[in-house]
This record gives sequence, structure tokens and C-alpha cells, in this order.
Amino acid sequence: MLYPTHIAAGALAGAMVVKLTSAPPKLWPLIIGTSMLASLVPDFDKRGSKASRTVPGSGFIIGAITSHRGFLHSLAAIALLSAGLYLFWPGLPKEVLFAFTAGALSHPLVDTINPQGVQWLWPLNVKLSLARILPWPFSFTTGSKIEKGIFQPMLWFLTVWLLLGDKVKSFM
Ligand SMILES: [Zn+2]
Repeated sequence: MLYPTHIAAGALAGAMVVKLTSAPPKLWPLIIGTSMLASLVPDFDKRGSKASRTVPGSGFIIGAITSHRGFLHSLAAIALLSAGLYLFWPGLPKEVLFAFTAGALSHPLVDTINPQGVQWLWPLNVKLSLARILPWPFSFTTGSKIEKGIFQPMLWFLTVWLLLGDKVKSFM
């Protein structure tokens, strides 16, 4: 999917972590920012993606080792990256670690809507896609009108609603 869609899904994942951990508001920007950044990481396997453009040459190198929506989009990769973060960053608040994992997971989840599918269970060479079980408009291609016009705004709406829904209700 498009990178703004991944960022929106990352924000929603961060909002879920905020809710699940009852994090204090001063941690919200760190948690949600981490999830939004983490949501872009799997696309390091694609030359020209937003993520790979931040580190020159990375898309070329990683893209040569693994295919797009392959290893870096798998549960194994996300578990490895999360474990790495946990091991090599002592004292990292657990909310931030959860935010990384949740944000990274949001990426293949969103890509699963795509008919090309995602290699969730790498090294098994099977690409899973919602398109096999759900028809249009629940499955759509990258850059489609549904993605930009409906799916992205819906993700942002859910994010704001999760974070501020209680406050809005208390005003009414
Ligand atoms: Zn992707």
C-alpha cells in the first residue's frame, strides 16, 4: 500500500498501544511516533520506497537479498527486529517496544488487503492475501481510490476516536 496509508495504520497501532498500556499523555507522541516510523520499516525491501530513500542504497541492497513483501514483511522479521531492539536498547520503555512491534505488524496487515499478498510465514513461500476470501471493496490494489478516499481517512478517524473518544463523550 502507499506509505501514507502505512503511516495512518501505524498511528492507529500506536493509539491501540496507548489504550492497552494506559500510557500517560506525555508518552503518547513517543509511542505513536515510534509506531508510525515502525510501520514503514518493512518496505526497506523495495527500491524507491519512502523507507529505503531515507538510507541511500538500502533498498538496492535489501531488495537484492529478499523480494518485496517477502522476509521483511514476515512475522519472523518483526519478531527478530523487536527482539533486537529489546536486547540492544536496555532501558527502552516497554510501551515504546510494544509500539515498535505493533507499528511494524500494522504494515503486513495492511498489505494483506492487496491481491499480491504478503509472505507472512517466511521462509514458507506462500503469500497470503485477503483478496482470496473477501471481494472488492474489502480488498483493493495499491493507490486505488478506496485506499486514498476511504481506507486512509478511516484509519485516521479510528486513531483520533481511540485517543480522544472518552474526552469527547465527557464534554457531551
Ligand atoms: Zn509493504
